[in-house]
Order: sequence, then C-alpha cells, then structure tokens
Amino acid sequence: MIDDEKKQRHAERMQRKKAVVDAGIERAQEERGIVVLITGNGKGKTTSAFGTLYRALGYGHQVGVVQFIKGTQASGEVTYLRQNAAQVAYHAMATGFTWDTQNWDADKAAADEAWVHAARMLADPSLNLVLLDELTYMLKYNYLDADMVIETIRARPAGQSVIVTGRAAKPELIELADTVSEIRDVKHAYNAGVKAQAGIDF
Ligand code: ATP
Ligand code: MG
Repeated sequence: MIDDEKKQRHAERMQRKKAVVDAGIERAQEERGIVVLITGNGKGKTTSAFGTLYRALGYGHQVGVVQFIKGTQASGEVTYLRQNAAQVAYHAMATGFTWDTQNWDADKAAADEAWVHAARMLADPSLNLVLLDELTYMLKYNYLDADMVIETIRARPAGQSVIVTGRAAKPELIELADTVSEIRDVKHAYNAGVKAQAGIDF
C-alpha cells in the first residue's frame, strides 16, 4: 500500500507529464515521409525494420524491400512476406555477390544492379515505405557512391518513408535520417555458443 500523500504526488507528476506530452503532440504537426536509420552492433536491426514494414502492411500500404546482402539464405520474414503479402515489391542483391574484397568489381556490379531496383522504388509515389536492408555496407565499402544514394533518397516522393539498416552507418546517412536508433550489443547468444536458429536469427 502507498499512502495518500504518495498517491497525490504521483497524480501531480503524471499531470505535469501529460502537459509535456500534449505540448509535444501539439508541436508535431508536419506530415511527410521520413528516413529511419537502424544501426549499431546489437541484434535487432533487420527485424525492427520488418516490424515497421508489417505495421505499414496492416494499413494496406504499398511497400518495397531491397536487401543488400550476401548469399542466398532465405529468412523467415521474407518467405512469409512473399507468400502472404501481394503489396510488397521485393528484390535481393544478385547471387553473384561475394562479399569478397578480392573481387571488388563483381561485388560492385551486384550492388549497382540492386541499386537500380532501389532507385526505381524510391521514385515510385505509389510506395508508402521502402526498406533498404543492409544498405550501410554498400557505402562503407564504396560499392555505391554515398552522395548519389543520399541524393536519390532525398529526392523521393514527399509521402514516402525509407528505412535503412546496417552497422557502421556513414555520418552523411545519419545526417540525412530523421530518426536514428543505434542498437547496442549488450550480449548475444551466439557468443555463448548457441547456434543461429530459424525463426529467431534468420
Ligand atoms: P536481426 O536480423 O536478427 O534483426 P541484425 O539485422 O541486427 O539482426 P545483422 O548484422 O544484419 O544484424 O546480422 C544478422 C544475423 O547476425 C542474425 O542472425 C543475428 O542474430 C546475428 N547477429 C546480429 N547481431 C549480432 C551480434 N552482436 N553478435 C552475434 N550475432 C549477431
Ligand atoms: Mg540485418
């Protein structure tokens, strides 16, 4: 049990908090698409982005996804999307991508090819949301020109939002984004010897 004085103080605190929240809501009147960047070394970047994508799908929004990833391993979120959501345009980087600095030219060609799809989506006003998964690495390794990428994202239709994921986001990307979250690695099961598992890690 808490005494009446504590209850009273709690009520006053909540009232002050409500005033601050209400003022914030009042202030935020602009309506436009935003750029969300999910970066950092902790687990949860891609899954967070797909969580937002599912949120948009719940409103019947049209969405596009380009995955700038190596390899061809399927992930549960993409398998589910492709089987169940007609309003998703999807493209994954060419299977020729090697993630191999010995073969920078081949990797760059794969990145360029994936970017053609991204650029098409970023110019399509019928798409409410475009997810560019693992895009940060394309800039980090100079497979894609940062200025070109940023200019294309900036020039997108006004109502379209973009989510970018990946570690080591360049400062230009952080500057461009309206919302930036850095997921910190506190611990990860893999480092304790737990195998990556379907439905959790991929
Ligand atoms: P997720 O797709 O699970 O949201 P992510 O997008 O944040 O992860 P990526 O760097 O894209 O992380 O790596 C994807 C894979 O690597 C996932 O299987 C994830 O569980 C694993 N992973 C992510 N972060 C870590 C980490 N800090 N240590 C070990 N493995 C990790
Ligand atoms: Mg990821």
